[in-house]
Amino acid sequence: MEPISPLEQALHAARALVLADLVAGRAAEPDVVSLVEDSVVQRRWWVEQWPEGAGYVAGLVAQDVQDALLDRYGRWPLCPVCGGGEPHALEVEPELGPDPHWVCHKAGVKVAPVGSLGSATGGTGSS
Ligand SMILES: [Zn+2]
Repeated sequence: MEPISPLEQALHAARALVLADLVAGRAAEPDVVSLVEDSVVQRRWWVEQWPEGAGYVAGLVAQDVQDALLDRYGRWPLCPVCGGGEPHALEVEPELGPDPHWVCHKAGVKVAPVGSLGSATGGTGSS
């Protein structure tokens, strides 16, 4: 087996984190999973150009998938902390940086790290 490069590790981790959040939101349909794959392909190219950005890939993939879902299905992930009112999506912060979190701008709170949305929403994704 060849050793896995840090770049590949970052891409694998990003894929796993975003998939975990999709499962938590019960949005991990096969065509949604392919959106994640598409994003990982794009970001592989990106991070090959800029290896220092490897730590930012998870946040970027999360935002890519969020954008792609908005076009096809609507807002994701919906905010779990604000009860009532207009349903709204969480946003990734920082947009370009390490240690990305889902935040609700309405309530001004960090909801969960990317990849840990399940623990914030109370859903375990079991089905
Ligand atoms: Zn909210």
